[in-house]
Amino acid sequence: MRIVSWIFGLIAAAALATAADARPAPHTTIMISIDGFRASYLARGVTPNLSALAKDGVRSALRPSFPSVTFPNHFTLITGLYPDHHGIVDNHFEDHRLGRTWDLGDRKGMTDPVWWKGGVAIWATAMAQGVTPAVEFWPSWGAGPSGRMPALFDTFDPNTSMDAEVAKMLSWLDLPPGRRPRLVLGYFFPVDEAGHRFGPDSAEVTQTVGRADAAVGQLVRGLRARGLYDRTNLIIVADHGMTQTSDSRAIRLDDHVDVRDVRLVTSGPLTGLEPLPGKDAEVAAALLGRRGHMRCWRKGAMPARFHYGSNPRIPPIVCLADLGWTIGTKAGLARGMVEKGNHGYDPDAPDMAAIFVAHGPDFRRGVVWPKFSNVDVYPMLAAILGLRPEPSDGRLSEVAGMLR
Ligand code: AMP
Ligand code: ZN
Ligand code: ZN
Repeated sequence: MRIVSWIFGLIAAAALATAADARPAPHTTIMISIDGFRASYLARGVTPNLSALAKDGVRSALRPSFPSVTFPNHFTLITGLYPDHHGIVDNHFEDHRLGRTWDLGDRKGMTDPVWWKGGVAIWATAMAQGVTPAVEFWPSWGAGPSGRMPALFDTFDPNTSMDAEVAKMLSWLDLPPGRRPRLVLGYFFPVDEAGHRFGPDSAEVTQTVGRADAAVGQLVRGLRARGLYDRTNLIIVADHGMTQTSDSRAIRLDDHVDVRDVRLVTSGPLTGLEPLPGKDAEVAAALLGRRGHMRCWRKGAMPARFHYGSNPRIPPIVCLADLGWTIGTKAGLARGMVEKGNHGYDPDAPDMAAIFVAHGPDFRRGVVWPKFSNVDVYPMLAAILGLRPEPSDGRLSEVAGMLR
């Protein structure tokens, strides 16, 4: 009799264990993007907190999607779609069908849902599948098919310190279980700002990298104090890297083409333009191919590895400067458009590679993983959150080996 009840007990315990195994693990996932945190900044000796997470977790680097600028890549990180496919094709672009222009400086216009319909943000998928998200400053909008944005969503405020952002994220984890998020996205911008103003090789950037690291340290301490550290995945990413620029490396469009024949949509490392009516052949003959330190293509003829050029929001001709060079009109360059640092260059350039560090219960320990495309972050997030992902350009198989 005693043996029979012992066997029944064993069977019941096994059944319980199986039921528990079948449920997705209730881990919390926090992903923070440190804008412009070049992968190699981790070697500056000023990041004890990030380095400790990397040593005990996964360290890799992200290849940004084209173009290597902020808004396209932040939407890519949370949709798994290339900018060509999600439609946030640059920090500034036009949509002729809508008759409107999107610009990173237009704080109100940029949030209109009409711009963000090309992709479903991970937070929308999370809400639809019963996982509560919270978002501190992530540079994207997009409500998904339900039209609802997360209840916990703070819009970017450049005057909020990184430490205050961390305090806000931790306060969300203190909410009662029904409202507490299981996915938290955060965004720090000072490292990018310092990179532009002072250049990536400056003492100011190194110091700002140290401050970002200290904020991550504050987050780790906050998680430990709450007993959450071992149950939380912490993922640190960036949208792109940074390279040194100089006004001695300027490409004057006027030297190549009659600028009265084109309408310039964007300029800088990446320049987009439209030949004026009747001027297409002349402009094409003047620009297409390699021209000194830049290369121009018709949008449909860009290298396949850029995954860029089919979206109607991309201007007909796209020019890309060599690393560290800046394209502009003579007038634009004279107005001082060249800063000390910039990005937007070929995503495969090592200086454009972005930080990737991941630590937590769903990540293996002590793994150094080769550089991978940032479209693969989305399927990874979906997997560790137990969500059914939307179709995307990312592949879980590219990153599965870093997961437990
Ligand atoms: P980028 O030069 O492409 O790295 O753009 C970075 C800039 O985007 C930052 O310096 C911010 O000023 C700006 N930015 C970031 N997030 C937002 C946001 N949510 N709304 C408006 N501007 C933002
Ligand atoms: Zn950026
Ligand atoms: Zn920037």
